[in-house]
Amino acid sequence: MRTLIANIGTLVSGDVAAPLADADQILVEDGRIAAVGRGLAADGDVDRVIDAHGSTAIPGLIDSHAHPVFGDFTPRQRTIDFIESGLHGGVTTVISAGEVHLPGRPKDIVGLKALAIVAAKSYQNLRPAGVKVHAGAPILELGMEEHDFREMAAAGVTLVGEIGLGSVKTGPQAAPMVVWAKAHGMTVTFHTGGPSIAGSSAIGADAVLEARPHIVGHINGGTTAMPDGDIERLVASDMAIEVVHCGNGRAALHAVRAAAGLGALERVIIGNDAPSGTGVVPLGILRVIAHLASLGGIAPEVAIAMATGNTARVHGLDVGVIAPGRAADICLVDAPVGSAAGTALDALAIGDLPGISMILIDGEIRVGRSRNTPPAGRAAELVAAEAGGAAAPAPGGH
Ligand SMILES: [Zn+2]
Repeated sequence: MRTLIANIGTLVSGDVAAPLADADQILVEDGRIAAVGRGLAADGDVDRVIDAHGSTAIPGLIDSHAHPVFGDFTPRQRTIDFIESGLHGGVTTVISAGEVHLPGRPKDIVGLKALAIVAAKSYQNLRPAGVKVHAGAPILELGMEEHDFREMAAAGVTLVGEIGLGSVKTGPQAAPMVVWAKAHGMTVTFHTGGPSIAGSSAIGADAVLEARPHIVGHINGGTTAMPDGDIERLVASDMAIEVVHCGNGRAALHAVRAAAGLGALERVIIGNDAPSGTGVVPLGILRVIAHLASLGGIAPEVAIAMATGNTARVHGLDVGVIAPGRAADICLVDAPVGSAAGTALDALAIGDLPGISMILIDGEIRVGRSRNTPPAGRAAELVAAEAGGAAAPAPGGH
């Protein structure tokens, strides 16, 4: 199956080092990006053509910090289909920071390992609405030993949920476990800031600097942020810096400005931290991008890279960048109807959320007009399909 996306007005690559590509077409072959450029497939040998009508192509967004449990239901807010709803906000990949909302979540070591393994395996077998969910992120408890990490890794667990939600909270407690997790190929996040739920405690820069996870979890708090001095010390490290929607908006700007000052924008990644007490927020990732682009002095295409290519690099995923060989997870977006801006990037720069008119995952059209974003000024459409072949675009929503 060969799909040509043509008449792209602006192509945002997701690569923070070269965030805008000089191209107006993307050629997709068997679910992967085959070429990015101009005058592609000039021989006309394609199965279908999507006309972007001058709108903007961006990589499918990655939510670096979610709290799924099983399937597309969250016990935290008693909501079904929140992952499908987030897809309508452009999120094609979701990364769990811990399945902490499981009713009766086990905190003994056998139980927490079992939960992580089942969560990892169940989402390997299930893509809600097509969304790629990476879950099975154990919450560390005191008493865990290296063989526990080896056993989980052998069963397919690739993540450690945000440290600090369990009994492991301090630098000395966490540091050896982080070493074991890294040795077994897991990507590790450490919660920072005030507690999200009663019973846990605040975590500052000292514990995280001692433990050396890959990711400083929600550096702007989830929901209560650390003092500015702690944020600055962590930004000055070499760890990935995560900014979340369900955190402190002022602290997010402080962290990102500090990262810009150090020339470290490639280490900033964006998460939602939902479902949570804040709610289910389908447009959360888009809202953080608009926040950073309109108030944080970050170029919109760089803010998009923080929610795509940067996160893919930290987690070693084959998504998040529009480049040959990557999975064809692509959103077509434009300035919303009624915006003072004329393009998606100009809309983000003034704080408006773009409208999404089409989303592809692995080259398949999963969403037509988003039911959650405002309507896009210019909407992509499927204009040519092989006779009797490709399906029509998914019906739009409202
Ligand atoms: Zn947290």
